[in-house]
Amino acid sequence: MVIAQCQKCKREPSTVVSRKETFCKSCFLKFVKGKQRKQMKDGRFKVKYGRNEDQTTEKTVSAILAFRFDGSSLVLLDILISWLEEQLAMSPRAHVGFNLTVLCYSLEQPQSWIAEKATQIKTKYHGEEGISRLHVKFEILDCNDEVKRNEGLSGIYLTDHFESLIDRSNKVKGDALKMIDTQIQDKSAQEDLKSVVERDVIVRHCLQLECSILLLPDCMSELAISVLAFTARGRGERISETLGDNYIDVDGNRLEVLYPLRDILKSEIESYLKICDLERFQAPKIDNTFKSVKNKTVNELVREYFESVEPEYPEVISTVVKAGSKLRIPFSEGDVKRCGICREIINDDPQNWLESITVNEGIPAKTEEEKRNYELYLSSIQRPEERELYTAGNKESISLCFGCVADLRNLRGKFSWPAD
Ligand SMILES: [Zn+2]
Ligand SMILES: [Zn+2]
Repeated sequence: MVIAQCQKCKREPSTVVSRKETFCKSCFLKFVKGKQRKQMKDGRFKVKYGRNEDQTTEKTVSAILAFRFDGSSLVLLDILISWLEEQLAMSPRAHVGFNLTVLCYSLEQPQSWIAEKATQIKTKYHGEEGISRLHVKFEILDCNDEVKRNEGLSGIYLTDHFESLIDRSNKVKGDALKMIDTQIQDKSAQEDLKSVVERDVIVRHCLQLECSILLLPDCMSELAISVLAFTARGRGERISETLGDNYIDVDGNRLEVLYPLRDILKSEIESYLKICDLERFQAPKIDNTFKSVKNKTVNELVREYFESVEPEYPEVISTVVKAGSKLRIPFSEGDVKRCGICREIINDDPQNWLESITVNEGIPAKTEEEKRNYELYLSSIQRPEERELYTAGNKESISLCFGCVADLRNLRGKFSWPAD
């Protein structure tokens, strides 16, 4: 058997084939790290020199890594840790270029699982002492608790005319993420609303820690999935926020968002995990092999599509990401209207648009039979939760974007946002 040679160093046997090129292990890792360095080439992250750390502290920026225990999170953490190690080894006067907080969370796994895995990962990188030498610290986030802290939300109502109302006194206690699952039946809407919650929790936590740089682990394939899934869910504004502008504005604060792995394919993430033996730290994946198409979510279907094109046509993935990066939110003067749930900018009021494409008023009933049927219909829609919509509590109007209206559309009543 002829073992192909690495096309980079032309010495070692090749173990990985990617983008139609052969790599040996060390050239492959160098290739992936090079892609990350390109995204973080900004001087702020460069090694700092000084006689002691006090001289560099002021110049050292802090960044948060959203660590969700998937392959991309593990690869990005591994790359960042090896980069910080390299920086320290450059000279006796060298200090790390940035402080890193690894924000560990999961929307699926219990807190005990998160804590245990975080400990195992720290041990891999020489424990507490090893990581603090590199100015890396781990923090564990409880998404359930964080969701409840969103005090602005409580009982949300959608009328038949897509008008959205909120009753702020209507607080319901419970397990936040389970409440989303039990109230929203549609799996794609569930998934979409949870992605809104995830982003909100992370962003608010960054602001709480007064950190202005957020590192998100999504690789190119994952970003391409987001572009198509956001489009399908009517969340076009999030594409430009995710890929185009590189920042998120929240309550007058600006958070810079970087995707250091945005040039790396999912298959390359998988190869990296295997070479560095990182697979064992991953959260268990949901197996969709035997699920029917009808039961799959938008994200699951789009993911399957990209997985099928990636080996032969990786350029399809990069083209989708590039197209998404070119989108910008239209400039508007003065105060912009934001969605009460996801805080996205609302350019066109979805209520007007949805009303214009939906016929809610029929022609009036004329004959006795038609009138009887109409009365019957009216009594049939007076379900308790709909009656509540027009009666109880102090409701005020709330602006919602198209994506959030679409997620809550089938509720026909109240959506209770979990509260403390
Ligand atoms: Zn090589
Ligand atoms: Zn929204």
